Amino acid sequence: MTFATLGLIEPLLRSLETLGYQTPTPVQAQAIPAVLAGRDLMAAAQTGTGKTAGFALPLLQLLAMEGPKVTANSVRALILVPTRELAEQVHEAVRQYAENLPLRTYAVYGGVSINPQMMKLRSGVDLLVATPGRLLDLFRQNALKFNQLQTLVLDEADRMLDLGFSEELANIYRALPKKRQTLLFSATFSDDIRLLAGQMLNDPLSIEVSPRNVAANTVKQWIVTVDKKRKPELFVHLMRKGKWKQVLVFAKTRNGVDALVEKLQGLGINADGIHGDKPQATRQRALDRFKASEVQILVATDVAARGLDIEDLPLVVNFDLPIVAEDYIHRIGRTGRAGSTGEAISLVCADEVNLLSAIEMLTRQTLKRQNEPDFEPEHRVPDTDASGQVVKKPKKPKKPKASGGGGGKRNLGKWVDSGEVAPAEPSIKPVRKVPVFNTGPRKRKP
Ligand code: AMP
Repeated sequence: MTFATLGLIEPLLRSLETLGYQTPTPVQAQAIPAVLAGRDLMAAAQTGTGKTAGFALPLLQLLAMEGPKVTANSVRALILVPTRELAEQVHEAVRQYAENLPLRTYAVYGGVSINPQMMKLRSGVDLLVATPGRLLDLFRQNALKFNQLQTLVLDEADRMLDLGFSEELANIYRALPKKRQTLLFSATFSDDIRLLAGQMLNDPLSIEVSPRNVAANTVKQWIVTVDKKRKPELFVHLMRKGKWKQVLVFAKTRNGVDALVEKLQGLGINADGIHGDKPQATRQRALDRFKASEVQILVATDVAARGLDIEDLPLVVNFDLPIVAEDYIHRIGRTGRAGSTGEAISLVCADEVNLLSAIEMLTRQTLKRQNEPDFEPEHRVPDTDASGQVVKKPKKPKKPKASGGGGGKRNLGKWVDSGEVAPAEPSIKPVRKVPVFNTGPRKRKP
């Protein structure tokens, strides 16, 4: 199969030739003809599958071939994305695909001045990439009209809901013409996403290019257990031992990012960090330098790293496990992309055991443990498996204390779980159901 047989027009084929795309990826093979035929889409596709071209190519073709010329402050196709970085990245891809077409494309997002964006929108834009919050600001200030809108794309819809954009999406949805084509892309499909799809899509074609909720199988995944306080030391040790050249590292919080970057830089390691507190220009610069291999280690929070397209990234390290298990799939999706192989290593400490268990249950696999000599944790990480159970091996019985005060938490050693008591009989392995995680809407900026 070729892009020509999918029905793409010559100016797009020329752009693809320039970019060196020879064969359509599975998501492209399914999405391109369906979008050209005017169908709504509900596509389960992870970043790295070529989904951007899957929706952008046919969209550009429809814009070039059909419909009236765009009028002042109007937009004919809208791509909604969760983060500024993704807006830039998707727009850059669109710009490349549209190189030989007489179409105006643009990206708007928050964190930068709104005035230049308002100016740019005055003459109308055929295809606009936007984050939901800034799009609504522009709409409310009359810088944007939707009367010409023919297609809406929700890219990384699951992430938009995770980031708490559901209200913005509802407001945008109300402002759009009812008659339009809608394409929804999501790496994972929760019940909330299915609800959203039910409201927004009309007889959609469902496309699933990777099994539901299963992490990319081109990525070799393993964990190293370690005490929390020794994680930075272990990271540096593994980095030197493995001679890591380019690593994207995920930390849970902005402070965590800053602390690790500071520690690495203090050791003379070429590291930089991106998170929501940093100005957009600084984040983009760090990312560009990482992509250009001028920065060796890029430490990021989930939001800042969402959807980043970094070619041939060999390794992702989860310095902290994500709070929401589905983020694990997004994180490791940065490597092993477009058919190449990659590696994802997670440093796991005892109080992350429930997060680990949730990830294993979601991805239906037990992550291989590889202990590092000299870093074996004092606070053991209980065994977990893909069934979602945490198995606590019995501890050696302690000598009974004369005072009789040894019950409850203290008997369990340092890894404690309130409400449990140590096993009376060492031969019995207590099995505990893992609590269900709240995967509902989260705050905008973790
Ligand atoms: P995406 O999943 O849209 O983020 O795309 C992942 C990467 O694959 C990007 O670097 C694209 O430029 C690249 N890509 C997309 N489609 C193709 C294709 N058909 N052939 C080669 N590379 C592609």
